[in-house]
Amino acid sequence: MSRDIKKIISQMTLEEKAGMCSGLDFWRTKAVERLGIPSIMVTDGPHGLRKQAETADHLGMNGSVPATCFPAGATLASSWDRSLVERVGAALGEECQAEKVSVLLGPAANIKRSPLCGRNFEYLSEDPYLSSEIAASHIRGVQSQGVGTSLKHFAVNNQEHRRLSVNAILDERTLREIYLASFEGAVKQSQPWTVMCAYNQVNGEYCSENKYLLTTILKEEWGHEGFVVSDWGAVNERVPGLKAGLELEMPSSNGLGDKKIVDAVKNGKLSEEVLDKAVERILNIVFKAVDNRKENATYDKKAHHALARAVARECMVLLKNEDDILPLMKKGKIAVIGGFVNKPRYQGGGSSHVNPTEIDNVLDEMVKLAGSAEIVSAEGFDLNSDNSDDNMVAEAKAAAQDSDVAVIFAGLPDRYESEGYDRTHMSMPSNQIKLIEAVAEVQQNVVVVLSNGSPIEMPWIGKVKGVLEAYLGGQAAGGAIADLLFGAANPCGKLAETFPIKLSDNPSYLNFPGEGDKVEYKEGLFVGYRYYDKKEMATLFPFGHGLSYTTFEYTGILVDKKELTDKDTLKVSVSVKNTGKVAGKEVVQLYVKDVVSSVIRPEKELKGFEKVDLQPGEEKAVTFTLDKRAFAYYNTEIKDWHVESGDFEILVGGSSVSLPLREIVKVESTVVIKKKFTKTSTVGDVMSHPAGKVIAADLMKGFFGEQQEVADTEGLGTDMAAMMKDFVLRSIVNFSGGKFSEEMLEELLDKLNNCN
Ligand code: BGC
Repeated sequence: MSRDIKKIISQMTLEEKAGMCSGLDFWRTKAVERLGIPSIMVTDGPHGLRKQAETADHLGMNGSVPATCFPAGATLASSWDRSLVERVGAALGEECQAEKVSVLLGPAANIKRSPLCGRNFEYLSEDPYLSSEIAASHIRGVQSQGVGTSLKHFAVNNQEHRRLSVNAILDERTLREIYLASFEGAVKQSQPWTVMCAYNQVNGEYCSENKYLLTTILKEEWGHEGFVVSDWGAVNERVPGLKAGLELEMPSSNGLGDKKIVDAVKNGKLSEEVLDKAVERILNIVFKAVDNRKENATYDKKAHHALARAVARECMVLLKNEDDILPLMKKGKIAVIGGFVNKPRYQGGGSSHVNPTEIDNVLDEMVKLAGSAEIVSAEGFDLNSDNSDDNMVAEAKAAAQDSDVAVIFAGLPDRYESEGYDRTHMSMPSNQIKLIEAVAEVQQNVVVVLSNGSPIEMPWIGKVKGVLEAYLGGQAAGGAIADLLFGAANPCGKLAETFPIKLSDNPSYLNFPGEGDKVEYKEGLFVGYRYYDKKEMATLFPFGHGLSYTTFEYTGILVDKKELTDKDTLKVSVSVKNTGKVAGKEVVQLYVKDVVSSVIRPEKELKGFEKVDLQPGEEKAVTFTLDKRAFAYYNTEIKDWHVESGDFEILVGGSSVSLPLREIVKVESTVVIKKKFTKTSTVGDVMSHPAGKVIAADLMKGFFGEQQEVADTEGLGTDMAAMMKDFVLRSIVNFSGGKFSEEMLEELLDKLNNCN
């Protein structure tokens, strides 16, 4: 329905306009009945609805209406499957329609800087490209149902410790290439109706009043059309926030924020135009929500539960499978052990906590698929304690010893990770470690199924044959695990984050969670695999890793051109074949490496991925299209993405450390970065400039005479040339004994700075 929003705004009183910029209560915006402005409801998110019927809170403490609990963000991202995530989004959108919710608060695209962040289970990846692609798909799915999303928490909210006050300090390249890039793709591709600003400060300014983030980058550069909503209670000062581009304050501040806005307009500190613009952005979305509302919408709970199961099994990651211990045989005796068997952990704590419509029982699901195998079970450890119980261990050992295989359900209990606080270590509870080791003493066929939202150390890894990372798989996780254990489905998830061997290997280790309210991102760009790669460090499981019950062969890489400019696109095709006996899916990953660069760059970066479904013996071609961004870094001088001319290696394979296909292309930049030459520019600087080389060679002939060619740093064949490279220009004046005068230097600088 078309309506004149500007006209509606012109009829609003100052108080009504200010009122639009904050919530009515915890979850709703205000209505202005006399002008036909309705109130809309927003609700958490991201992997299910947390629509609270009565007492409201933002920490997930009070109850909410039943809704499908889909796999959490960490799990979903391990699918590396855009269309699957979109399907989940669409199902979430349907549930929102049925519950009359207009905006789902998610997805959460913060980068996993440290494995300790308490909210990593909600976040998607350590890699910005993967994270933004998954977030974009989630948004597309939800919004396809006429329901909005809230991409959160913008930005650099990578820890829970002091999350409302901490100041994240990072350099511009790191901000752009890692932390913002994770949001950028999602905003540009999918236009989330709203973006939620984070609690923390970035480089000294609260996100809620950070004009650079909310207006310059988000609205102006990326073209975000919707509105920015504060994280719940993230507003620091309301008026500077509004000026910076924060339109809606949530939840209600009981009139406090509104009054500040009204006063500021009245005393001339805030232009009413700024307020009008904010109201316009809010109303655009409010009416969009109302226009897209599907009256009497319902959803099929059973169908969504089945979808949750199908999705979960596409996400779980088979980390280890020695001697093909999995899939399990459907005969003999299987001991199923662990506190998570009867009390599954399938979602995380805090604002994303969903009240599920039903929950699978893994034991029941296993029995259904076990054929003639007998299943016995033992608890093994108490989930509520870290202390070992000798009787429980003995009982588990006896069950394991008497079986053909032992499957242990271990991981992190709820109290180990949640929104609101970070972990302080990466260990599992000691009673679980002890149990795994005790069972491995009596049974050589041990499989561990992990339920956790973030990486853990696995000191026992050498003692077990199989590990299935089930993550937090949602309400149907039990069924999905059973499907995978018995081979009713083939594992096809890949890690969206690195599992380091130990916590201290992680690049943020020395600066997490910071000092007081200051956390410095000193590792810079080297987050996750970017660090382990560069340092050539061993990891427990690398980024992109994930096994299958079949095998894949990569052959033939083809590029549509060997040379291109940064304005062209490059098509890369590879062939992947299923060389095993069962159908399976492979996540084909493409990384780009800048062979030589004058700036510090990661060894390689993920720039493409596709999931392909292959029958045994089947071969498919997978094509990627790369554009400038795949080769570029963020240049802080020109404040733009820039490709440095030269060779780039394209690497393709099944994990970040297994990339059998390689090809080199030459990319030429069409942007010349004008360098400012000064007296302290070096000979090398001059010589590396195409025009500078010619001018300088000519002018310096007087000084170098016959030796002029030694200053040509390109060859650097001689020691002299290597030494000369770092000479500053003014020192040549001093050393030349008058042959290269100050006037000549001025003339040289003049020419250098004025050429092209
Ligand atoms: C969380 C958000 C959530 C909001 C509303 C905040 O504490 O950080 O992710 O959407 O509460 O529950």
